[in-house]
Amino acid sequence: KQRILSGVQPTGNLHLGNYLGAIRNWVEAQSQYENFFCVVDLHAITVPHNRATLAQDTYTIAALYLACGIDLDRATIFIQSHVRAHTELTWLLNCITPLNWLQDMIQFKEKAVRQGENVSAGLLDYPVLMAADILLYEADKVPVGEDQKQHLELTRDIAARFNHQFGNDDEPVLKVPEPLIRKEGARVMSLTDGTNKMSKSDPSDMSRINLLDPPDAIAKKIKRCKTDPIRGLWFDDPQRPECHNLLTLYALLSGKSREAVAKECKDMGWGQFKPLLTQATLEALKPIQEKYKEVMGDRAYLESVLREGREKAEAIANPTLNKVKAALGYSMPL
Ligand code: ATP
Ligand code: MG
Repeated sequence: KQRILSGVQPTGNLHLGNYLGAIRNWVEAQSQYENFFCVVDLHAITVPHNRATLAQDTYTIAALYLACGIDLDRATIFIQSHVRAHTELTWLLNCITPLNWLQDMIQFKEKAVRQGENVSAGLLDYPVLMAADILLYEADKVPVGEDQKQHLELTRDIAARFNHQFGNDDEPVLKVPEPLIRKEGARVMSLTDGTNKMSKSDPSDMSRINLLDPPDAIAKKIKRCKTDPIRGLWFDDPQRPECHNLLTLYALLSGKSREAVAKECKDMGWGQFKPLLTQATLEALKPIQEKYKEVMGDRAYLESVLREGREKAEAIANPTLNKVKAALGYSMPL
């Protein structure tokens, strides 16, 4: 079986973008692959973070993986910072990554603008850490949302450059991974601005629907979300990004096809559509929220899952790291 690896940062609550763009696709494809899913808490400190909640937020995301349907018979769940090879490989890859490759990354530019004066070297280095995450596990495929496509290409470039400089032609040191980006849900947009992606780190909580939002909060967010004064709803109109986004969410959450939704909603006004979207969202999230409560209620179980996950992750990551160090010419510790 091919191996996949993916992760989410504990920078806040999981939202519909993370679910529809990433986690739901992991769940649907998990029987086809050998799966590794991590909570990338080392990435979470590339922007200012809250140390009082970091550990709890990390557990929350691991529990949400289980609540969303990740099956431990098929998948390994672990926490990035528990496997030391991630930081170590990052350093080694840093030294072969050209600085200007990182300066060209769109996410760096976007997040750097938000941070103003306060941009850490870690924010610039984020994609190298992500490359280390992926390359350590010799992942064949990496399922992500569209926003991570550029980072994935960088991972491929770093691996190819390393192999070119330190490998033999017949025996590459690092496996070059392929992106796995599903079209549907690949880019869920903000509720307050249909031209911006839904993000955990958007300062406004009204811009996103979190998987753990209570029903009344969800109803309120949908009621207040940005729309337009036009009657009739349709997909794919560049003048109506919010309309396209909300219809897409409705289709994905209700399980109806795009065609069915287009037909159902073509003559609707917002006042008629919004309660339908609310209903579909509540129904889709209810089982996740129930399972989440169950998992979070048994801390010992969650800890045992993560302990076992770390062991399985290390069994793959550590040999890869040693291979990289050997290729670079390092002596091994005695
Ligand atoms: P942050 O704002 O802190 O970067 P985020 O919301 O972008 O948070 P990440 O942890 O960076 O979330 O990404 C986790 C996964 O979710 C990635 O696979 C990413 O591609 C996917 N993802 C994030 N936002 C969206 C979105 N709006 N639509 C679809 N997929 C998304
Ligand atoms: Mg992100």
